[in-house]
Amino acid sequence: DTHSQNHIRITSSEILLPRKETAAQIDHLRRLLNERAREYLLPRLEKHAAETGLTPAATDLSNAKTFWGVCRPHTGIRLNWRLIGAPEYVADYVCIHELCHLRHPDHSPHFWHLVNTLTPHTDNAKSWLKAHGRELFVLG
Ligand SMILES: [Zn+2]
Repeated sequence: DTHSQNHIRITSSEILLPRKETAAQIDHLRRLLNERAREYLLPRLEKHAAETGLTPAATDLSNAKTFWGVCRPHTGIRLNWRLIGAPEYVADYVCIHELCHLRHPDHSPHFWHLVNTLTPHTDNAKSWLKAHGRELFVLG
């Protein structure tokens, strides 16, 4: 393990924080990941929007502590930036889930039928978020 005490290291599967991380280092890392999340998540959402024909009024990131995505008719879809740390199929599932709310604002059987028509990842993604979602809050 090359983890040093003075550096923040990000690999494809984990974020290792310095043993004595400072608030400034955490802020810096959070800002960095926010920028990456914008580049990674929003084009992904827009690709799914184009493919499904479900078009949100706008797209943006959110810093919410309680949801992965939100969809409202007038403000569009916002995705939690922390999904930058989730596997791609999980990010894809959240995109599809929120896009389907444009047609069904509830979690009715019609909603889930549409979700499952558009992605095969529902069960695996929900399991992943249940098992690992809290880990994405390591930076607060
Ligand atoms: Zn929902």
